[in-house]
Amino acid sequence: MNRKRFISTATLVFIGSQFSINSEVLNLLGFDDIKIENLLGLSQSHLKSNSILLENETYEAFSKMKSKAIEDNIDLRIVSGYRSFKHQKAIWERKFNQLIITKKPTEAISEIITYSSIPGTSRHHWGTDIDIIDGSVKLPKGDLLLEQNYHGDAPFSKMKSWMDNHAKDFGFELVYTQNKSRTGFNYEPWHYSFAKKSKSFLNVQLQKDYREAWSALEFNGKSKMSKKFIDSYFENYGSGINPSLMPS
Ligand SMILES: [Zn+2]
Repeated sequence: MNRKRFISTATLVFIGSQFSINSEVLNLLGFDDIKIENLLGLSQSHLKSNSILLENETYEAFSKMKSKAIEDNIDLRIVSGYRSFKHQKAIWERKFNQLIITKKPTEAISEIITYSSIPGTSRHHWGTDIDIIDGSVKLPKGDLLLEQNYHGDAPFSKMKSWMDNHAKDFGFELVYTQNKSRTGFNYEPWHYSFAKKSKSFLNVQLQKDYREAWSALEFNGKSKMSKKFIDSYFENYGSGINPSLMPS
């Protein structure tokens, strides 16, 4: 079980838009194998290294899966792995600032969250989640991460079938499946997660301490989010995933 500890968000200190945190406080935020600041995208201490931006065990498992796929002439390439809070904030604010020219802030937010996470809540902060393509094929023009590139005669179909058959053997699961009863983000045939680790990380994200720490983060549009909206986002988007990735 997690050693759950409580902390006041008053101890989280902002310097401009940068987040800094007292090192004694960081220790208080520790769970068994992850700290809340890691899950918020504010620290990279859970990653393999500064050059390999994946969580340790995720990296080992991905390397094995990649070697196996190469035997079948598939080159698994990560186009997006770890993403920091700062990066997610930049993605979010670029979209938000553009959309509010013509829409109400709440409409802009609803539109962004069809595909993009609210900063501090992205599974990409965890280093356990990857967006992949097949590097062995001629790449389609334009956006690579589109559903149509992964099905039928499309360039990444062979890779998708291979993943359907083998990903589980290496501990990876599709997160945002085609299951019609699933809530949250749209179907993403490219987004996989290393279940063993991400299940335990999600368990931490579901705790009160995490929500309190997240509440102290700042980004454009956050002040337009009602408590009701935030509660429903965490429930429907955070837990609107493949049941194989839910903590037991
Ligand atoms: Zn993704």
